[in-house]
Amino acid sequence: MKKDTLIATTGRNPEFTHGSVNTPVYHTSTVTFDTVKDMKRAIAKRHQGVPYYGRRGNPTTFALEQAMCDLEGADGCYLYPSGLAAITGAILSFIKAGDHILIADGVYEPTRGLADKVLLRMGVEVSYFDPLIGAGIADLIRDNTRIVFVESPCSLTMEIIDIPAITKAAHARDVLVMMDNTWGTPLHFKPFDHGVDFSIHAATKYIVGHSDAMLGTVSTRKDYCEQLFNMSYQLGYCAAPDDAYLALRGIRTLKLRLKQHEENALTVARWLKDRPEVAEVRHPAFETCPGHEIFKRDFTGGNGLFSMILKGGSEAAVTAFLENLHHFKMGFSWGGYESLILPYYGIAKNRSATGWRAPGPLIRLHIGLEDPQDLITDLAQGLAAFNDVT
Ligand SMILES: *Cc1c(COP(=O)(O)O)cnc(C)c1O
Repeated sequence: MKKDTLIATTGRNPEFTHGSVNTPVYHTSTVTFDTVKDMKRAIAKRHQGVPYYGRRGNPTTFALEQAMCDLEGADGCYLYPSGLAAITGAILSFIKAGDHILIADGVYEPTRGLADKVLLRMGVEVSYFDPLIGAGIADLIRDNTRIVFVESPCSLTMEIIDIPAITKAAHARDVLVMMDNTWGTPLHFKPFDHGVDFSIHAATKYIVGHSDAMLGTVSTRKDYCEQLFNMSYQLGYCAAPDDAYLALRGIRTLKLRLKQHEENALTVARWLKDRPEVAEVRHPAFETCPGHEIFKRDFTGGNGLFSMILKGGSEAAVTAFLENLHHFKMGFSWGGYESLILPYYGIAKNRSATGWRAPGPLIRLHIGLEDPQDLITDLAQGLAAFNDVT
């Protein structure tokens, strides 16, 4: 089946839809059985799409799990109430006291928070590595290393990681590789083709795609399903059916939206690159982006999220810029249909393996589905306000 057809049909199991095009929203805690045989069947098949108890899922969440497996080429998927819960659930399902985890410098900041504030307390050793390390990761793997955690491109700084090189080195030492694949989406980066063992998404972003739900997913291979499902269930994780429904709806238009986000973002990024206030645009499709060659080799597309580094500018000037924008709102997210912008002054404190030097603050932009010319006009007058203060 070709990709577009799969996107239109996946998860629409007649057993769940009962003839409707979409799987309904099943609000369920309790599932009842008339016979002991039915109850035992539900227990035996609780990981295989048979309703058993609300926390184990319902037909709406099963439909989304199926869709994520189909799109990512995974054997199983578990849903979480947020992207961060998915990261937490994946790591806690496979780590124990005394283990070591290697994390890419430049991961989503709360992932780092999880490691530094929670894992360390539990007696896990944590170390960070340069996202451009590639096969050099082998030198950092210890006898007690259990997980290598990657995110590519990195949050904010956008370095692209050589995932096949990392997975090869990790697997040679029986180390699991978990990837936050939120930027790549299930359509533009195929983690399992590149050796990743766990693909994690903040479905909150492009999968839901309309800024109206929090949701996370972890997909994996057959070997790890049982442990991931049992531990995540044990930790109490489950996702709401309304949110699963919104994610399923989002998937139907994901490819079209990404294409438009990507095109609009390139238009805006090319314009920003030539502005005198901008030192560098960090966009994976630009040759100047660290790891650009890997992006070209491993990704099949981009999206609306990238960063720019200003040549300088006081905090007052950046504030004038941000507050004079009309289409770009400040908001701690991305992946919806709307444009967003955020300033970052403290990148260096989250870079323990590599450090961070830049001539000015980093600004992250999410380019939405508005007309890019309106967005450029908006940025131009915001930069005029910036220059008035500088
Ligand atoms: C937003 C985000 C998350 C966390 O997702 P939530 O649903 O907000 O918890 C994880 N990883 C990346 C890369 C993100 O951008």
